[in-house]
Order: sequence, then structure tokens, then C-alpha cells
Amino acid sequence: MSYKICTLPGDGIGPEIMDEAKHLLAAIGEAYDVNFNCDDQLIGGCAIDATSAAGAKVSALPPETLEAAREADAVLLAAVGGPRWDDPTPGAVRPEQGLLAIRKNLGLYLNLRPVRVFEALRDASPLRPERLDDVDLLIVRELTGGLYFGTHERRQGVEGAGVGGSVGDVAIDTMEYREYEVERVLRWAYEAAGRRNGVVTSVDKANVLETSRLWREVNHRMNAKFEGVEGEDMLVDNCAMQLVVNPAQFDVLVTENTFGDILSDEASMLTGSLGMLASASLGDGTALYEPSHGSAPDIAGKGIANPIAQILSVELMLRYSFQMDAAADAVAAAVEDVLAAGWRTHDLADEATDAAHRLGTAAMGDKIIEAFRLHAG
Ligand code: NAD
Repeated sequence: MSYKICTLPGDGIGPEIMDEAKHLLAAIGEAYDVNFNCDDQLIGGCAIDATSAAGAKVSALPPETLEAAREADAVLLAAVGGPRWDDPTPGAVRPEQGLLAIRKNLGLYLNLRPVRVFEALRDASPLRPERLDDVDLLIVRELTGGLYFGTHERRQGVEGAGVGGSVGDVAIDTMEYREYEVERVLRWAYEAAGRRNGVVTSVDKANVLETSRLWREVNHRMNAKFEGVEGEDMLVDNCAMQLVVNPAQFDVLVTENTFGDILSDEASMLTGSLGMLASASLGDGTALYEPSHGSAPDIAGKGIANPIAQILSVELMLRYSFQMDAAADAVAAAVEDVLAAGWRTHDLADEATDAAHRLGTAAMGDKIIEAFRLHAG
């Protein structure tokens, strides 16, 4: 078996953490007799530099990168951006445009963010440790519809829109969903719940929004189709509260784009560390896997970045693009073991971590590979 992976190291700590992902992929390939061919391409700030040096059209997503991504079996991205490219000139190409463009061009309409608490890192969470018992949820967010992709308009000089009835501005954003956009996301959530703990919580604001009422109808229809999966509706304001009061009640939490953006960041804080969170964006073609954190320019080049979110992105890729669940489980177990043994990168270390247990990026990657080999096969 052979798979082609389009690897996008990007900027900042991106290349450092991507190296660890590639070493792990080589070890997985060996253990499960699979050939992973990694094809490095440019995205973000490094792509802006390269296209501008070559005198080509300046782009954060050069055409060759998009072509390689389309042809690959999966895309593994690290992170983009940094102060070097924070050009305030209107119209300047920014690294993040590469991210939006690749998601749009690959038609990635669904984003997954698993939130699980690693036993050894319970104390890193801002929540009381007992509230984290049994927390293991999957957030499924619609990614290409709703408010962010509706029409945006600013009307200036409108009579009565200003303070005290004077002339002022009116700003309008529209939220629109088509039935098929809702259905494909909910269907995916129900299928995933069927393989997990069998509960779907669909989050909406149906007491106010028409899009939410459509969302709720489709949820009920889907619920009737999936025997053995329990479906419920929850208002978004209640959900925001429940995530901190009783996060263990959730299995699969599915919602539209804007609510998902906010709730997934809230939920990610349950784990206490940005360096631990991976995400997957799926569509009908090539899927994309990436850490939830940015390019951490403040620590780039120092060899101290935490590679775990990148490594857990590989875990998701194994699960969702290659159906290699046993290998994915071995990667997750390896991360759990290494943390349980007290190994920490600088962002995870606390006063209880002695100097001998503080690891740099490469050493953490090696420890995880060592533990992976014990679990694999
Ligand atoms: P960031 O996530 O890069 O960093 C926030 C803080 O977390 C920093 O102190 C950083 O050192 C630390 N951190 C992040 N990842 C870490 C890791 N793996 N190991 C150890 N520490 C880690 O967010 P930011 O500082 O707001 O943004 C920096 C740049 O990244 C900006 O240019 C931003 O636009 C970009 N960004 C990119 C993405 C992406 O590529 N998906 C996402 C968010 C931000």
C-alpha cells in the first residue's frame, strides 16, 4: 500500500514540528507495511517569499501547491504566518490567505476537532480536575457556509442610524444555509457517533434564527434515520455553559460555522494546552490535517516547539483518510504513555518537571516514536 501526502511545513515552528511528523510517518510505514511518500510544498509566508523572489505573481498558495494537494491522498499542514509578513499595506498578500484558499479550493466543508484530556495533563486545564472525568468529545463544525460566507454590506449615511436619531452607518451580514449543506454535516456527525458513544448534540439558536430552525428539522430527520444513535438539540448559549459545567456529557457536538468557531475554541481550553490540539478538515476529495495552533514565531528556530498537535494530526489522518485505526490508536497511546512518564516540552512543563524530563522538539518526537513501536503491530 502506498499513499502520497502533500506536506506543507509553512512558517515559524512549522518545519520543525513537520520533521517530527515525517519521522513518525516513516515508523508507521515500517510497522504497518505502508509507504508514505511526503511531497513538501510551499504555503503561507515562505510561498510569498518564493513567488516574489522568482518574479512570479505573489501568492500564499502557488498553483503548484494546489495541484500537489489535489493530487495527494491527504494534506498535512503545520502552520503559517509571522510578523515578517504582517504588511499593513491594503491589498498586500498575507500568509493566512493561503489557508483560506486551500480550504476553499479543496472544498473542505467540515472541520473536526477532537477534544480529549490526557490524564497526565489534567492539572494544565483551567477547570477543576474532577470536571474532566471522561471528557472525550468530537466537535464537528460546518466550514463553508453561514455568516462567514454570506453577503457583507456597509451602508453609510443612513437617516436615523446614528446616535440620537442622526445619520449613521448600517452594517449587514447575512446568514444563509442550504439544506444539503446542513444535511452532509449532520450525516457525518451521526455516522461518527455510531462509531463512538452514540450521542449527537446538535447546537443551534432555533428560538431566534431561521437557519437554526432548518438545522433542527434536518437533525430530527437524521436522528430518525440512524437507529442506535441518540440525537438531541441544544441552544448555543446553553451549550457554551454546559461545556464548562459538564463537558463529559458530550460525545459528538455538531454545529454551524460561527457557533462552531467559538465553541471549538472554548472546548479546546478544556485540555489546557494549545500545543496538544489537532484538527481535520474534510470534504468530498482530499482532506487536510493540521494543528490548531499557529506558527509560534516567538520560539521558531529554537528547537523547543511542542510537536504533539502535529503528531496528533497524523493520528487523525490515519483514521479519516487511510482507515488505519489500529495505527492511529497506537499513536494516541504513545502520546499518552510519554506524557504519563513525565516527559514534557517547555510549554507543558511546570515546577514539578525536573530538568532531565524537559525535552526539545526532536527529543519529544523520538520518545513518541519509541513508545509507538511498543504499541504498533
Ligand atoms: P500561536 O498559536 O502561534 O502562538 C500562541 C502562543 O502559543 C505563543 O506563545 C507560542 O509560542 C505558543 N505555542 C503555539 N504553538 C506551540 C507549540 N507547538 N509548542 C509550544 N508553544 C506553542 O498564535 P499567535 O502568536 O497568535 O500567532 C502567530 C502567527 O501564527 C500569526 O502570524 C498568526 O496569524 C499565525 N496563525 C496561524 C495559524 C495556522 O497556521 N493555522 C493559526 C493561528 C495563528
